[in-house]
Amino acid sequence: MESRCSTCGQSYTFDYRPGDELPPHFPFCSQRCKTVDLAKWLDGEYRISISLPNSEIMTTEEKKILAQYLLAEGEVDEVIGNEETDERD
Ligand SMILES: [Zn+2]
Repeated sequence: MESRCSTCGQSYTFDYRPGDELPPHFPFCSQRCKTVDLAKWLDGEYRISISLPNSEIMTTEEKKILAQYLLAEGEVDEVIGNEETDERD
């Protein structure tokens, strides 16, 4: 399978067949990139107004999905991510 690392932007391939476990660093190209992404969260580049359960084992995409879900459900007041844009002048 081929995937693209959202930390460094490199495409990478890995062996995967149904039933196999995904690489431990998935969806990143390496454990380093996964750690870098987690560090972004810890540094506040991504912020959420509640603490997420099991956040240390969740990927960025999973957090975003959960955050958006919680926002839609009214469980949180705001979710701030690095893809959010501020429309104010
Ligand atoms: Zn990478």
